[in-house]
Amino acid sequence: MKHVDEYRDRELAARLSARIRSAVSRPWMLMEICGGQTHAIMKYGITELLPDEITMIHGPGCPVCVTPAEMIEKAIALAGMEGVILTSFGDMLRVPGISGDLLSARSRGADVRMVYSPLDALRVAEKNRGSQVVFFAVGFETTAPAVALAVKEARRGGLSNFSLLVSHVLVPPAMQALLSDPEMQIDGFLAAGHVCTVMGYREYVPIAEKYRVPIVVTGFEPVDILLGIHTCIEMLERGHFGVENAYTRSVREEGTPRARILMEEVFEVSDRNWRGIGLLPSSGLSLSGEYASFDACRRFNLEEIHEKDDTPCIAGSILTGKKKPPECPSFGKECTPEHPRGAPMVSSEGACAAYYRYQHHKNTP
Ligand code: SF4
Repeated sequence: MKHVDEYRDRELAARLSARIRSAVSRPWMLMEICGGQTHAIMKYGITELLPDEITMIHGPGCPVCVTPAEMIEKAIALAGMEGVILTSFGDMLRVPGISGDLLSARSRGADVRMVYSPLDALRVAEKNRGSQVVFFAVGFETTAPAVALAVKEARRGGLSNFSLLVSHVLVPPAMQALLSDPEMQIDGFLAAGHVCTVMGYREYVPIAEKYRVPIVVTGFEPVDILLGIHTCIEMLERGHFGVENAYTRSVREEGTPRARILMEEVFEVSDRNWRGIGLLPSSGLSLSGEYASFDACRRFNLEEIHEKDDTPCIAGSILTGKKKPPECPSFGKECTPEHPRGAPMVSSEGACAAYYRYQHHKNTP
């Protein structure tokens, strides 16, 4: 595959691995933020190419995983309402809340539909004018522009039967929360390339300076990840901090201004609850005043639903990198991709699903 094979090249990966080994002189803890990078690290055995001094810890960058049970409960409540069609991405339908998941709601008769994009949900609304169609919008800065576009389209077309249950989150406040946590020791970050494709990387500069850490914008193929690790290790070994871009084929410093302008028009920054982590100030997006009439929470009076996530799942420890999936007593036993107990085992970007898929067989007779 053009533009992909070269970033999966074994010789190039081996050369980068050798350069990392010769650059490192002491232990370092690096966190990759994005669940897509976690999956690539596990899938391609990247940790096996690294010297023992480097420990990779996995961050909270899985949008399905960080969506709190409270939002799942709101989605289930919506799906159970007469005349409502609830739409979302496939993974969201299987994430457990407190009372179950959206697939169980569908088996009880609710109209729950999987879509591939918010614009698909808009099409459902156009074809079902007699129903209220709600799109359960989750994700980081990557998916927010498409959601913003859908709601703008809905307003332009006068679609009064379309609304959004918004659970969007932002990367920089999560990084700051991790760096402020006295239980954590993170020496450097690999920032998520696709988020930076939209947002650019200027907003990471004050974080790097405040906490004196290197932050390296990194892609998703094995060579991209090794290049990001190498850049980060070289900065650490030289005592440098700041932001470097190791994903120049996709990311520019200013990001994609049109996408950012679209987001700023439709959304405003708000406090947001993260699954297993809790309330992080200014860490989410909500519809701005001009688009507030498209907010499903307001339209259907869901603001009073506040469920506590008290399942035995240790998603909070997994999402902050304090524990690795095999340290969860349920991993591979009560909790598997077929019978997930928590969001990190459901999501295609979840750390527990990555460990199960690519490592569990090693420990299973
Ligand atoms: S293995 Fe299952 S129960 Fe344990 S943290 Fe992962 S998702 Fe939660």
